[in-house]
Amino acid sequence: MYEKNIAIHIRGLVQGVGFRPFIYRLAQQMNISGEVENNTNGVTIHAKLSADIYDLFIKRIREEHPSVSSIHSIEIREEESDKEYVGFSIASSHTASNKVTQVSPDIAICPKCLADRKRQPHRIFFPFINCTECGPRFTIIKDLPYDRKRTTMAPFTMCPHCRNEYLTVAGRRFHAQPMACNDCGPSYAATYKKERYGTYSQILEMTTRLIREGEVIAVRGLGGYHLVCDALHEGAVRSLRELKQRDNKPFAVMFRSMEDIKQYALVNKEEECLLVSWRRPIVLLRQLKPLSSGVNPQMQTIGCMLPYMAIHYDWFDALDTPVLVMTSANISDMPIVISPEEAERCFGRNVSLLLHHNREIYNRADDSVVQVFGRQPSIIRRSRGYAPESLFAGIKTEGILAFGAETVNTFALGKDDMIIPSQYIGDLKNWETHNFYQESMDRFMRLFRFRPRQVVCDMHPDYHSSIEAARFAYSKGIPVIKVQHHHAHAAACMAEYGLDEPVIAVVFDGTGLGDDGAIWGGEFLLCDKISYKRLAHLEYVSLPGGDKASLNAWRMAIAYLLKYNLPYPVSFAERVGALNIDTIQTMIGKNINSPSTSSAGRLFDAVSSLLNICDDSTYQGEAAILLEQQALTEKTSESYFYPFSISEGTLPLEGILRGILTDLSTEMAVERIAYRFHFTMAKLITEEAKFLLAKNGVGKVVISGGCFQNHLLTRMLQRCFHKEKIPLYIPSLIPCNDGGISVGQVAVAAATVNK
Ligand code: ZN
Ligand code: ZN
Ligand code: FE
Repeated sequence: MYEKNIAIHIRGLVQGVGFRPFIYRLAQQMNISGEVENNTNGVTIHAKLSADIYDLFIKRIREEHPSVSSIHSIEIREEESDKEYVGFSIASSHTASNKVTQVSPDIAICPKCLADRKRQPHRIFFPFINCTECGPRFTIIKDLPYDRKRTTMAPFTMCPHCRNEYLTVAGRRFHAQPMACNDCGPSYAATYKKERYGTYSQILEMTTRLIREGEVIAVRGLGGYHLVCDALHEGAVRSLRELKQRDNKPFAVMFRSMEDIKQYALVNKEEECLLVSWRRPIVLLRQLKPLSSGVNPQMQTIGCMLPYMAIHYDWFDALDTPVLVMTSANISDMPIVISPEEAERCFGRNVSLLLHHNREIYNRADDSVVQVFGRQPSIIRRSRGYAPESLFAGIKTEGILAFGAETVNTFALGKDDMIIPSQYIGDLKNWETHNFYQESMDRFMRLFRFRPRQVVCDMHPDYHSSIEAARFAYSKGIPVIKVQHHHAHAAACMAEYGLDEPVIAVVFDGTGLGDDGAIWGGEFLLCDKISYKRLAHLEYVSLPGGDKASLNAWRMAIAYLLKYNLPYPVSFAERVGALNIDTIQTMIGKNINSPSTSSAGRLFDAVSSLLNICDDSTYQGEAAILLEQQALTEKTSESYFYPFSISEGTLPLEGILRGILTDLSTEMAVERIAYRFHFTMAKLITEEAKFLLAKNGVGKVVISGGCFQNHLLTRMLQRCFHKEKIPLYIPSLIPCNDGGISVGQVAVAAATVNK
């Protein structure tokens, strides 16, 4: 049979995930001669092949590649040379290409390694076991190319045993950079009552005993420290709440197994896939059975995950409880603690035991959070297991640096035709978070050999990210593009789905500066990636106290009632008090610190307060979240909605508020009113979108903005759109909250620059 020399270039997440050994083994099996090398943006195979084998080879690559890897494209060309190969080999990596855009996220421990811990003599119980298919990646990488000496595993010299496995091409640990064993690898160490415990079995015995006794411990993990306690122990959870200085924000929990999760929560197929996936995110689930009351007060949903490090499995083996609180170790909204010194300083006096290990965490990563709408996953916090995976933009993005938003910040780089979003950073108003932001940005730029040519940021001049962007651009002498907040939200979703044609974008969120100087947040835009036209928005109302109003839902209730001249419900007036009502009314009347807003988030807040669900939020978004949680308890699924009208321009809300007050006065159950309100909003969005689609000759609708984290609202919307047969695009890989803003900024800047 006639054979040709061909080069197969595979792009995607194919480096540092055992792809080359996989190709090697496959080629051996199929008797193919040639070589495989790590290359710019991927992996290249050079081989001499006949036509019949060739198809099968590609097919098997597509079907059998390691589960952690993902193939974006396979490009094939004939080679000039007619080089002869003897067998198949793995070529050693050359120097780092400047074009690398894919760095593997961290990967949960794999089943094979779990088994190896029980049988490999040098790895019996070794807690830091890993292979090419699992283990730490992003959190330990300092520089590229991805080699042990450029990771925080550098101080650990491989023993001869490990070295041998590292060099064995056919093995699962061939070039597994963080690979080690009991003789040469990292180890845990704990201090308890001034005594130091160094052996792993002592540590296990100690930690599980303390957990059983209801103590809180701090443990260094993959991307930071966790605070851990028994999620079924009331006292333990109570002391954890005190320790974190956080009033009501729900804690995430880790279950022993899938079977145990199913005892406590409702899990559909897609949710199960996510829970067991190598990314091991926290998945928000509908709770069936209560945990300790302090875990997630007033919530119907619970954030659950499965073990992803060896020590997690070992704990559950020794414990009776099937569930642990695993919350990131930080105080209030500060970044997750990563160093032993910080951990000692912040928690040394408050936890009974601090468990450290000596593998440095270089890149901080919180646990990621995902929820599922029907069958569609939608990420809420994108960090461990996801970052820094890049996204194909379908347009040149080279040199674009996006600074993101403010409270749920991420930044993003444009490289070649990819968008590389950072891990979740947090609220830039914190000094510590701001440092984390700057440090991570420097590290991303160095890691990806990034040369900034274009800066892009939010239109809001007071965002710390915008200030930083201006300073950076000035110091480098490069131009700045400013993107309207809600346009960026829409563009992120468009970029994710590769939508280049104009769409109707429905962006509902808390706040964002509009181009008329008002605070937007209930927007219907006609937009593409370059520009937008604001077609309609929720009617303006005063935002008494500006940003402050977002934590005092009752202020918004007053603003709406005053706006539409509606009476105060008796219980509301009693709770809030005449003085407060009077003060807010005066503020609005005299226009003192009361800008106009069309924010949908603030409307949800107002309703939450009117229904006596939440007057004051202890964390961002609490009032709206609790409103949804109430609505979830409604047993009937009626399709009653309050009156609204659709139009271009302003969408008045008087009918909706009047309807709510009327229902309230008949003493209808609040969960029912909350449910009706949610359905009304879904209905309003559907009808308005339908109207605008027809009017503007557009076929697709994208939604984004923090309000669509609301599971009930988005599910209702999904169903309404399905009924109307209108294609609805819901953010999936990129958060719909402000964590997605940086990606949208890159998309807008790229489209603008390439115009
Ligand atoms: Zn493994
Ligand atoms: Zn070793
Ligand atoms: Fe936003």
